[in-house]
Amino acid sequence: MVGWFSKLIVATTVRMPRWFVRWVSRRYVAGASLDEAVAVMKRLTNEGACFTIDVLGEEISSMDEATFFLEEYIRVMNAIQEHGFDANLSIKPTAFGLLIDPEAGMKNIRKLVQMAAKEDMFVRLDMEDHRVTTQTIDVVLALHSEGLTNVGTVLQGRLFRTLADIDALETALGPAADYRICKGIYLEPEDISFTGYRDIVDATNAAIDRMFAAGAYVGVASHDLPVIDHTLSALSSYKMGPGIDDPRPNAGPQRHHKGPGYEFQLLLGVRGPLRRRLLNEGHRTRVYIPYGEKWYEYSIRRLKENPTIGTQVAKAFLMPWTNRP
Ligand code: FAD
Repeated sequence: MVGWFSKLIVATTVRMPRWFVRWVSRRYVAGASLDEAVAVMKRLTNEGACFTIDVLGEEISSMDEATFFLEEYIRVMNAIQEHGFDANLSIKPTAFGLLIDPEAGMKNIRKLVQMAAKEDMFVRLDMEDHRVTTQTIDVVLALHSEGLTNVGTVLQGRLFRTLADIDALETALGPAADYRICKGIYLEPEDISFTGYRDIVDATNAAIDRMFAAGAYVGVASHDLPVIDHTLSALSSYKMGPGIDDPRPNAGPQRHHKGPGYEFQLLLGVRGPLRRRLLNEGHRTRVYIPYGEKWYEYSIRRLKENPTIGTQVAKAFLMPWTNRP
């Protein structure tokens, strides 16, 4: 249930001047340009983190915009090579045109994944709202069937369909399935998703269990201790962990630039002490680095989509000890 405080924050922030929103979002967005994202990654590389890079922008209105995203991601790939970052790409399928022209969108995504494959780089399809869940999964299935296995998607614990999606992906891809599992940022209708905090945590943890049992690669994207702790105990029950070859009999081979069957993923600027703790314990820890000219639209849209973020951001500023970058 979204409280009055969250609503107040949303109402206030969307009326704030751009400079103020920029000031608040500096912590969560690497900057407007690729150079700024590179600077952030250089700093965090020194802490031992690896990355996934997101060029900000989602649903587009013309295929020209999709071309912009394709070209920008090619620049990102070149920058990763040039600086030797341990990084992969996160893309929004709708920014590549999947909703306005599915065939052309697929062509754009395929081109990027093919180029990434030549560089031995992984491409993650971020999961957007429920309108594109099936389409996004279908893109991954189609690319794998074409021999492009350096691509995987995100599943959202809050959706009722997620366990069935894991089973279907296991049947189609076996141990080549490579997931990011998160709670899901979009507040979806209650006929297709859990809406209460505890139900969402339980469903996310159940999805994590199902992924581990299927032998898949599991990227756990959460800052929430009940999810992190659940993952840590699942790891220990499978005798998985830092520096140990994945012992699951149904697991695929060790993947390049990946952890031993799993990794943790956190957003830039969120719960730094937790990220550093996981790193110090030896876990592979990936930071999601969003950057781009569309930082303002991204910040406001995310806030409107999920007003509880407003509370979290406000807490991070008013009570910084609860959420250091
Ligand atoms: P919460 O209970 O929301 O957060 C736990 C604590 O973390 C909060 O109390 C707060 O202290 C802190 N916190 C969390 N988020 C923030 C924030 N934004 N600002 C400040 N503090 C915060 N969702 C999708 O739908 N599709 C995706 O493709 C997707 N990709 C993601 C990739 C990564 C690497 C991560 C970490 C998340 C991604 N998400 C995605 C978002 C995810 O679904 C959740 O909405 C988000 O992570 C918040 O859930 P939580 O598990 O961290 O738990």
